[in-house]
Amino acid sequence: MNGTAPIRNRPDGFEIPRGRMAAHLRDHYGIRDERVLAAMNAVARHLFVPDALRSQAYKDNALPIAGGQTISQPFIVARMTELLELKGRERVLEIGTGTGYQTAILALLARKIYTVERIESLAAEAKQRLMGMGYRNISYKASDGTEGWQIYAPFDAILVAAGGPDVPEPLLDQLEAGGRLVLPVGNDRTSQRLVRVTREEKGFKHEDCGPCSFVPLIGQHGWDDTRDK
Ligand code: SAH
Repeated sequence: MNGTAPIRNRPDGFEIPRGRMAAHLRDHYGIRDERVLAAMNAVARHLFVPDALRSQAYKDNALPIAGGQTISQPFIVARMTELLELKGRERVLEIGTGTGYQTAILALLARKIYTVERIESLAAEAKQRLMGMGYRNISYKASDGTEGWQIYAPFDAILVAAGGPDVPEPLLDQLEAGGRLVLPVGNDRTSQRLVRVTREEKGFKHEDCGPCSFVPLIGQHGWDDTRDK
């Protein structure tokens, strides 16, 4: 892997379920990018879930975390990451840090990650967790990620881990030529289509990558927050 973060491969007792999870991603879900599979097999997902749910950390589902949010299903993390086509040199913007699990995967696969989370306590916890695990190529911000992170733009890749009604305009503006933006977009707050937008010489290419289900993207260029307080 070419990312700059260390991979901690100290024995942690979860090697077998983690290996099985990675094999399932490859054999059942058809994840093909070997770097993505290696990252999924390297990051200790049990350290990102609530203590009571540790035994379920490598199962194939999303799990509840603080603030009424969820840590995404391993498959969707792997799929979205694969769609970004990271080679190791990229600067990546992530919206919806949550626990920081997806952030850790990205940090192993790209040069620098800029991650934004609207719930301050989640942002602070994720930062503390990832710093403690030794990740040094991540910048953190607690704010509305639908505005992007203008001072560090443009980005080679952008990943949004919450579902909004449309593609937020500022994220399109902050995408580098040739860059990829992967995000869930949907007409209601709980179900979406996974969309990949690629910035081409003239305009943007949109690809539909199938159904998905994320928590709502709340913000200026997302849903309003009336039902999420
Ligand atoms: N990928 C994360 C899970 C993300 S859940 C993980 O691996 O743990 C989606 C997250 O997006 C939630 O934490 C939610 O608070 C956050 N979110 C929703 N709207 C947002 C916005 N406008 N800006 C930043 N974060 C947002």
